[in-house]
Amino acid sequence: MQEQIPGNYPAPDQPIDELALAEIKGAILAKLRLAIGKDAGMATRRDWYKAAALALRDRIVHRWLTAEKESYDAGSKRVYYLSLEFLIGRLFTDALNNMGLLPVFEAALGDLGVGLDDLRKCEPDAALGNGGLGRLAACFMESMATLAIPAIGYGIRYDFGLFRQIISHGWQQEYPDEWLSFGNPWEFLRSEVVYHVHFGGFVDHVDDRGRDRATWRPAETVQAVAYDTPIVGWRGQHVNALRLWSARSPDPLRLDVFNTGDYLGAVAEEARAESICKFLYPNDESPAGRELRLRQEYFFVSASLQDLVKRHLASDGQLRSLASKVAVQLNDTHPSLAVTELMRILVDLHNFRWDEAWKITVATLSYTNHTLLPEALETWPVELFERLLPRHLEIIYRINAAHLALADQRCPGDIEYRASVSLIDEKSGRRVRMGQLAFVGSHRINGVSAMHSDLMKETVFHDLNHLYPGRITNKTNGITFRRWLMLANPKLTGLLREVCGEAVLDDFSLFQRLEARASDNAFQQRFREVKHHNKLALARLINERLGVKIDPSALFDIQIKRIHEYKRQLLNVVETVALYQAIKDEPQRDWVPRVKIFAGKAAASYRYAKLIIKLINDVAEVVNNDPDVAGRLKVVFLADYNVSLAEVIIPAADLSEQISTAGMEASGTGNMKLALNGALTIGTLDGANIEIRDHVGAENIAIFGMEAGDVMVRRKQGLDATDVISRSPRLARAITAIESGAFSPDDRARFASIGHALRYLDHYMVSADFDSYYAAQRSIDARWQVVPAWTRASILNVARMPWFSSDRTIREYAEDIWNVPVRAAAPVSEAGAQRGATR
Ligand SMILES: *Cc1c(COP(=O)(O)O)cnc(C)c1O
Repeated sequence: MQEQIPGNYPAPDQPIDELALAEIKGAILAKLRLAIGKDAGMATRRDWYKAAALALRDRIVHRWLTAEKESYDAGSKRVYYLSLEFLIGRLFTDALNNMGLLPVFEAALGDLGVGLDDLRKCEPDAALGNGGLGRLAACFMESMATLAIPAIGYGIRYDFGLFRQIISHGWQQEYPDEWLSFGNPWEFLRSEVVYHVHFGGFVDHVDDRGRDRATWRPAETVQAVAYDTPIVGWRGQHVNALRLWSARSPDPLRLDVFNTGDYLGAVAEEARAESICKFLYPNDESPAGRELRLRQEYFFVSASLQDLVKRHLASDGQLRSLASKVAVQLNDTHPSLAVTELMRILVDLHNFRWDEAWKITVATLSYTNHTLLPEALETWPVELFERLLPRHLEIIYRINAAHLALADQRCPGDIEYRASVSLIDEKSGRRVRMGQLAFVGSHRINGVSAMHSDLMKETVFHDLNHLYPGRITNKTNGITFRRWLMLANPKLTGLLREVCGEAVLDDFSLFQRLEARASDNAFQQRFREVKHHNKLALARLINERLGVKIDPSALFDIQIKRIHEYKRQLLNVVETVALYQAIKDEPQRDWVPRVKIFAGKAAASYRYAKLIIKLINDVAEVVNNDPDVAGRLKVVFLADYNVSLAEVIIPAADLSEQISTAGMEASGTGNMKLALNGALTIGTLDGANIEIRDHVGAENIAIFGMEAGDVMVRRKQGLDATDVISRSPRLARAITAIESGAFSPDDRARFASIGHALRYLDHYMVSADFDSYYAAQRSIDARWQVVPAWTRASILNVARMPWFSSDRTIREYAEDIWNVPVRAAAPVSEAGAQRGATR
């Protein structure tokens, strides 16, 4: 057996161990022949990629099985992270990097005549998530493995991930994401891990010596089959599983129906079952209120709980101790049914008394809230619930009865209080409130930034917090530095290793050693060279994809995230138009050359967001081809934003646009990735921007705009923005150009609805914040021209970001919510870091 020695991350100039090199070459060639069935002469790039991935996977599996056995033997408490989304991206170089095998694989592949980077691009970008919420789950999986927390991530293995975005004549078009069509070398099908998940039917009740016994008689059964993907922690010291469920029918082919000649009818049940894992709902920040979505939610919750209960019973023999050995984290409300499903398992299937089952459930579960937008909190019609999950609805009613009795005790006669905490929303035609359900059934409820957690207490969960004080806690999001710095930006990583020492790879607090060099001329020069290198790479990609030539010495101004009104890409476009008009007024002035780079997907059904994409592209068309501008302003929209594209854009950013309407972005994590790579932030006091300001220093970030409190006050006064527009000729002129068709000569009315919203329906405060934003942008222009000061601020951003590592976030979850031990911060000695690649 080949055992990987941990702690290897050879210096760039360290020679490759010849033995290790020969071994890896042999392993890749063996996979090519024996697993792929090709020889080197006939292998395609994809064949080589798969062979290399499988050779790497073998090395991971050894560590995986060891880790699994160790935590089983030790009887360690396990964390189960339930998430309907995992926005994973590519795994090949991520796993190579964490295993310390990047240099030896690169050399081995080079000797075999294939380039590592070419192979890397053969891997599809696994996009089983919409945006920040799904990417957080992926970063958390990596950090849990790094911190050696025994954990399993549970989700759905969607046949089709988030749609592929194509821009055609400026409009977004959606195409299916066929990420599995060439197979997936990372996953292990566990044919023997199958659970039955039921739907529909009715519930029988019998009186068993004074105790009510419920038996659910479901009408429909679907099978959940497990697929496991190993997630390697840093230095390969621990490996956890991401277990994704696929749906199938227990009765795939009805032969009796087939034999009557009804070939479609014969596979109808199979098609219905499989529809559950067919695709990811392409919504972000608004619920997908469809029956299929509720089926997806119950499907993965039920399979996951059956799996973890079985595992617990195998080691402990009973379920009384569940909460001492199991922590279940609900990533948003999508897995809220875990509250009722765990109660059903304990009470109906294992004969627990209700009160004891409830104690176990609450002690086991905890819930992460991701949004305060009331329209984004999931609710389901009671009738749908009753039809699909009749027993769960009964359980909800019983939980609600006890819960409302407590509410009546706390605030006797207060009908409004009762209505606000109830699990059933009686006002909007009786709906089950999944956020309230998750809250009541969890011992901890966390927000994802300090501001968001405070707002949770003040707004949506005000009354629940009063009823269950002390449950709400904050866990500010983080990002994994292995992917978002080491892999995405090897040049900056190299500089950090040189200045802060090799130990910086294990102890991010050593970033602070950069501070002493922040004003050093020679160091600044090298820091700028790294940024320039990354900007050249992005400029090349933009030229390849769009045929637009951009100047790599221009200021790269980046807004990359889902397209949503609250994220305010529109504010950025309106400012772009105003700047364009200002340049046209005075073409002779020494304008700071700027490239505005946008990327992001709009939900297919979100027409206004799709119109904003069209506006960006129409403005780009005019601005990029105007000789008066002479290249000093360029606008670029890169299609199909995903993790891999983010990895190219982020290291090249000078300016990070984090301009959401204050109070609406729960945290953001894109903001962290960009600051970590040395971009200065222009942003509102919203989400984690506030904590970024606190860490990097107010002088190293550009804050503008209304605060959350101002927004609430102004909204109460109405949404009409006529007042601010009449005071701002610049804004008035930009709006007029947009709405009168200056950028859409082929359809002059195309953007009339945008003009109307900017004038009279300014819910997101685009007009209200415009002047402040425009001024902040011009002060950015001024700062950019003082190169040493800009570079210093950029270096200090990097130096002061370590707190935003998801390792820190996961450590906090482990201590305050899960009560599980965490491996110490710096596990590997300097001596360990010197050892060879393989033994
Ligand atoms: C980080 C990330 C996000 C989240 O970005 P925000 O700016 O926080 O909304 C979305 N999509 C991808 C691909 C990401 O990597």
